[in-house]
Amino acid sequence: MFRRTVRVLAALTLAAAATLVATVTTAAPAQADGCYTWSRQLSEGMTGEDVRQLQIRVAGYPGYNAVLGVDGAFGPATRSAVIRFQQAYGLGADGIAGPLTFNKIYALQDDDCTPVNFSYAELNDCNSDWSGGAVSASTARFNALVNMWKLQAMRHALGDQQLRVTSAFRSHACNNAVGGSATSRHLYGDAVDIGASPHSLCTLAQQARNHGWREILGPGYPGHSDHTHVAHKSSRTWSASSCGVS
Ligand SMILES: [Zn+2]
Repeated sequence: MFRRTVRVLAALTLAAAATLVATVTTAAPAQADGCYTWSRQLSEGMTGEDVRQLQIRVAGYPGYNAVLGVDGAFGPATRSAVIRFQQAYGLGADGIAGPLTFNKIYALQDDDCTPVNFSYAELNDCNSDWSGGAVSASTARFNALVNMWKLQAMRHALGDQQLRVTSAFRSHACNNAVGGSATSRHLYGDAVDIGASPHSLCTLAQQARNHGWREILGPGYPGHSDHTHVAHKSSRTWSASSCGVS
């Protein structure tokens, strides 16, 4: 009797283990990714590093004249950004990041976590280690990463045509060499200059208002007749008077 009970229990345990394995297998992410793989669905109210990773990827969808915080807390602004991202790619726009949303992000990112159409090298033709700016090298590099996701969003909004980066991160030495302002956001790694063609500088300045940049300088602003400058900043400075951007 006792031995029989043990045998039955053992069989039940094996069955349960098999069920568990099957469950774990089917619940696994639809696609493993070389950069980062999300392991749970994310929605408003959740917190964590996975939320923060999501916020970096949707930082280019904050809405007009807004900046999305990258703080690991999934609040209403993150939900709105996810909805705009989903709408931009024709996904069901429910503001919940699930497998379809993550698969789109996986398709958009390289193994080093940069979006497919931009690279660290492109955002830094000053040096290779991101040193010598106004912030630590790791901060400058991170700022550039967030900026690349904003650029990717703007690129998609403008018909997936090239955005031509002409200057981004600068060390103090590089900034001095090009006569940049002593307080230039290029020293922080969160500024990008974009040249004309295929888009006009005004198209770039106008569209940039939707993608998370508080500093936009373009045609009409001194020294910006051959590029549109976008950057992060604590307060809004939009000046491209020839384009109606102010
Ligand atoms: Zn600039």
